[in-house]
Amino acid sequence: MDFDLTPEQDQLRDAVRALGRRYGHSYFVAKAKAGAHTTELWEEAGRLGYLGVNIPTEYGGGGGGITELAIVCEELAAAGCPLLLLVVSPAIAATVINKHGTEEQRRRFLPGFADGSLKVVFAITEPEAGSNFHRLGTVARRDGDDWLLSGRKCYISGVDEAQYVLVVARVAVPDGPAGAAGPAGAAAQKLRPALFVVPTDAPGLTRSRLDMEIVSPENQFLLYLDDVRLPGDALVGESLDAGLPALFAGLNPERITVAAMGAGTGRYAIERASEYTATRKVWGGRTIGSHQGVAHPLAHAAVQVELARLMIHKAATLYDAGRDLEAGVSGNMAKYAAGEAAALAVDTAVQALGGAGMTTEYGVATLLGAVRAGRIAPVSREMILNFVAQHVLSQDKSY
Ligand SMILES: Cc1cc2nc3c(=O)[nH]c(=O)nc-3n(C[C@H](O)[C@H](O)[C@H](O)COP(=O)(O)OP(=O)(O)OC[C@H]3O[C@@H](n4cnc5c(N)ncnc54)[C@H](O)[C@@H]3O)c2cc1C
Repeated sequence: MDFDLTPEQDQLRDAVRALGRRYGHSYFVAKAKAGAHTTELWEEAGRLGYLGVNIPTEYGGGGGGITELAIVCEELAAAGCPLLLLVVSPAIAATVINKHGTEEQRRRFLPGFADGSLKVVFAITEPEAGSNFHRLGTVARRDGDDWLLSGRKCYISGVDEAQYVLVVARVAVPDGPAGAAGPAGAAAQKLRPALFVVPTDAPGLTRSRLDMEIVSPENQFLLYLDDVRLPGDALVGESLDAGLPALFAGLNPERITVAAMGAGTGRYAIERASEYTATRKVWGGRTIGSHQGVAHPLAHAAVQVELARLMIHKAATLYDAGRDLEAGVSGNMAKYAAGEAAALAVDTAVQALGGAGMTTEYGVATLLGAVRAGRIAPVSREMILNFVAQHVLSQDKSY
């Protein structure tokens, strides 16, 4: 069992931490409140190679794994810059294309992921389907060599910043033996998931921004796909057989990196609060941090964040070793633990700062919305508990 990072990973952590601190939470909040994006930070991180750490070297990336990308996510968040697009673009979209795209797709997209010039967001959630992806209603159908996509997606992050959106749709394929006919004489069909790389400016694709109670420079959108016409090679992979594996390929990287972002956010909040409580005095010469009623909740939150970090490290190590099934269990547990720990840490930090905790200046209440959302997205705490109950505790599925 090895709890140490490699020297290269340590250097990466130090370098990303330094970059994040040069920008800091006040930069992040100022961008959010101005309705702008953290473009300077993203571009600098891209130039320094931090956005492409998990992309193979032959496509211009760092040749590392999800461990390295999780370090980037955690350290930027620990500096007060939790960038959700790191989870969506390099973790989900780049992994899907790298693992299940065609060689042509890898050559076309991966160099842009590697230097950060390309942002690809991810659209699976739909208004009617919610957590139940078996109910997805977005469909893709053939029209000659082209595809036509129709449907609706919701809460899709970063569409206004991205060149492409990776859309999860369903395609009707014949079910059973060739020529099998259903009761009405029609050939039986089933719907299979398939992923499509859709330009965000494609005709027929429209969006409307959702008003969210989250202080973030990254926005969420409703997407409407109205017969969006795509060339045949917009389908990820050589054939429809790639659909389900491609969809699952993004899950572990998503869980692990979003957990890392949560752990970093938790560290950031506890650090802000500890600095404050170690110097603030309202009862004579004693600091408020000397009162256990203030210090213990912070210490408790620090323990929860550190436990989550351990599980993130385990999940990333398993994933990078190719042990996908075990990484699935650990990644879900890490996401759950980090989501809860981040929410606890930010809430505890706000309380420890008293009135200052609610000001923009002290930069902790600005994270309340984000950490609350982290218990819902990208997978809710309940769906993780369902997963653990079913796959670890062998309980019957209730839904
Ligand atoms: C800030 C933010 C960013 C997002 N970004 C993206 C994105 O980029 N791309 C994307 O595709 N989606 C995105 N989402 C959507 C997100 O993944 C969904 O909100 C999430 O998966 C939950 O789906 P839902 O909101 O439809 O909730 P619902 O499925 O309607 O669930 C509502 C509640 O019921 C619970 N519930 C549902 N089913 C069960 C069950 N069987 N057992 C127990 N409890 C259950 C849920 O846990 C939840 O608490 C984002 C959401 C947010 C808030």
